[in-house]
Amino acid sequence: PETGSARPGAERKRTVALTHPDRLYWPDAGITKDGLADYYAAIWPRIAPFIVDRPLALLRCPEGIDGPRFFQKNAWKGMNAHIRTLDDPATDTVEHLIGIHDLDGLMGLVQSAALEIHPWGAACRDWERPDQLVMDLDPGEGVAWERVIDAARDVREHLAASGLTPFVKTSGGKGLHVVAPLKPEADWEMVKAFSRTLAQTMAADCPDRYIATITKAKRHGKILLDYLRNQRGATSVAPYSTRARVGAPVSMPLSWEELGQITGSAQFTVNNAFTRLTTLRADPWAAFHTARRPIQP
Ligand code: ATP
Ligand code: MN
Ligand code: MN
Repeated sequence: PETGSARPGAERKRTVALTHPDRLYWPDAGITKDGLADYYAAIWPRIAPFIVDRPLALLRCPEGIDGPRFFQKNAWKGMNAHIRTLDDPATDTVEHLIGIHDLDGLMGLVQSAALEIHPWGAACRDWERPDQLVMDLDPGEGVAWERVIDAARDVREHLAASGLTPFVKTSGGKGLHVVAPLKPEADWEMVKAFSRTLAQTMAADCPDRYIATITKAKRHGKILLDYLRNQRGATSVAPYSTRARVGAPVSMPLSWEELGQITGSAQFTVNNAFTRLTTLRADPWAAFHTARRPIQP
């Protein structure tokens, strides 16, 4: 039963042995491997639907954020036993992908120094039909934070006009992610084309504010509408995932109502996430999983 503790469920992490629990993953923020396990054990019910049974890419930092880092997309030799291997049905390579099935799997990721968790936009129950659309807003140099908020609201309006129900989160880096839950009906090609059209339409309407092409050098003062999160095999950071950056920021789900009060993408961190969770009256993304709508071509 709940004890009213600020870290509900934290004791459950003990089911998976952590070596070097006192290793400092974020030295500046004072977050150890054990502290990361506490964070994920507490956040588990919220993060689970976004990371369970879907291919994951991991940013691994064995010595913490100040040491070497590498992006891991494939299962490795000696991988923690609680982490599952997945086989992409579209390829016959010998490489396995990475997945988790339960909290033990998430603790296996902590044990493996996965400081960022980046899922695909499709779940294993249907690899070919994405169940979310992500518009990744990447502000160039010189873009004020308020303009990023405006852009997120702009994306929201466009998606809502298409019959979708978009949600917003900080990335924990520089920008915002607008995420629309999808009924997994359209395939990757359709979802990518839909998001490309959205980005290109917005860039054509407001060329001084937005660009839709990554290769375009002229990003200064503009926001890149990065629609390429929506292609097969692409990933974006999971809601509630930590980031391997100074301050131990997390990608935090927000309500549209509070967005105007948010001061930056790295505002929410491992250290203040518990307070946010216990003081918020409701999960700002509570309706996410019941708001799935199909893409209209
Ligand atoms: P920010 O708000 O600072 O842009 P972000 O998480 O959106 O933070 P991006 O640089 O826009 O960062 O990257 C978008 C996504 O691309 C990442 O979330 C990640 O899933 C994926 N990605 C990042 N680095 C790599 C990499 N080395 N290899 C493959 N995919 C990557
Ligand atoms: Mn981004
Ligand atoms: Mn991007």
